[in-house]
Order: sequence, then C-alpha cells, then structure tokens
Amino acid sequence: MLGWKIGDVTITCVVETTSCELDEILFPEVAREEREAISWLRPHFLDADGRMLLSFQCFVVESCGRRIVVDTCVGNDKDRPMPDWNHRSGPFLQDLACAGAERESIDLVLCTHLHIDHVGWNTMLLGGKWVPTFPNARYLFGRVEWEHWKDQPEDLGPVITDSVRPIVDAGLVDLVETDHRLTDEVWLESTPGHTPGHVSVRIRSRGERAVISGDVMHHPCQIAHPEWSPAFDHDRARATVTRRAFLEGCSDAPVLVIGTHFAAPTAGRIVRDGATFRFVV
Ligand SMILES: [Zn+2]
Repeated sequence: MLGWKIGDVTITCVVETTSCELDEILFPEVAREEREAISWLRPHFLDADGRMLLSFQCFVVESCGRRIVVDTCVGNDKDRPMPDWNHRSGPFLQDLACAGAERESIDLVLCTHLHIDHVGWNTMLLGGKWVPTFPNARYLFGRVEWEHWKDQPEDLGPVITDSVRPIVDAGLVDLVETDHRLTDEVWLESTPGHTPGHVSVRIRSRGERAVISGDVMHHPCQIAHPEWSPAFDHDRARATVTRRAFLEGCSDAPVLVIGTHFAAPTAGRIVRDGATFRFVV
C-alpha cells in the first residue's frame, strides 16, 4: 500500500481498481501515437500495449489527530451504466481497514467534487437502504458543487440519489467553501473547470508540501499536454487554464503532487520540460 509522510502528516493510498477501461474515451481527439511520444509515461502510466492506466483510489490523510478520507471512489452495489462499475462487490472496506482506517474511525470525508467515481463509498447498502459508510464522520461537500449537482438530471445512474443525498438527509454534511481549512496542515484550493466547484487538497507540515490533485488532471500525459481535456470536463477551456496554472505553481516549488487517478507510484514532482512539463517519480 502506497503512503507518504509530509512533515507530521501521513497520507495512505487505498486503491479500489486500476484499469485501462477509459483508454478509448478519455481523450477522443488525441491519437495514441501522440501519447506514445511522451517517453516518460512508461513504464508506470501506460500498459504494455500503450493504453492509459487509471486508478480509482482514495487517500487517508492523518493530520492534527484527525483522520480524513479524500474521495470515496465508485462503491459497491451501485446501479451504474458502466459494466465495470455496475453492482461492484470489491474489498475496499477491508483494504481501508488494512490501512489502519476502519470506517467507524474516520472523522472527516472530503469529496473533491461530486462525480460518480468520487462519492461511491459515501454510502453502503444495508438492509436495502443506502446508509452512511462513515457514521462518525462529518462529510465536507463544496457548497458550489452541491448547488450545481443537486438538481441536475442523473444520466450516469442515480449517483446523487444513492451516494450524496442520503448523507444530506442523515444530517452529516457540512457545506464548505473552496478555500476551507480542514486542519492547521490541510486545506482546500479552488481548481474549477472539471466541475464548477472542484477543489484540490493542499498539505503543509514542518516546511514540507504536498497536493492531492483531484481531477485537475486524470492522467500524467496532461502534464506534458495541459491542453488535453477529457470530454467530461464540465468547462474544458476553464479546466485547461486551471490545469496550466496548477502545473506552473507546482513546478516552481518543492511540492509532492499526488495524482488522484494516477497509477502507482501515483506521486511525484512536476518539472519544466521546454515549453511544458514532465512528471518525475
Ligand atoms: Zn474522477
């Protein structure tokens, strides 16, 4: 299980799945040869056939005596149109416990945004009902994000209905602003574009720095090509501006960048590479 120490903060990565399932649909305008031309994507981020690997994972952040879950993946038992995500029965909760983070021990749950693959384990099926997976946690949802999604049609399955609204109804939600501070060492940064209220998670302790990207980028190829924007970015132009600014900021400072969908080793440094950037793991 991957993990990092940033000063006094520990971060543990719990992977739900790693696959090439999105290879064909992530960047429909980008030819495979263009990705293959980025030599440093091998061996970690392309498979043997040159397909893009993506992980779906959450991060357990321990800071100032608080145990925080950042993003909750796809979840089990959910009714979803994608075969890989439909009625899953994976060992995520056992893996979380193996990471020393039993679900009852979680203090805060933070969703970087309210997409299907970031809210799934907010709830679990118990006695035919969706109940909060983390009963002792406060769930932090972005106010802007919730305002956007709460009345949208649900075209990828009942995501808000089964994974977000039950938490609201249970009274466990705190709606937070995009610069919310979770602890003295952990705070949110507004990174809009992928969704209107999207945030990344900044960490600083004893002079060391890290950031959990969220979906500012999905695959490391976007570090070399910040203009590559997936079809499911809500506002592709804004997402590109945000992504470029994010990469610029990270390249100018010693900050460990932890990619929310990056396959292992998941974390590295952004360095300048001519007019663009590369990822050094
Ligand atoms: Zn995502």
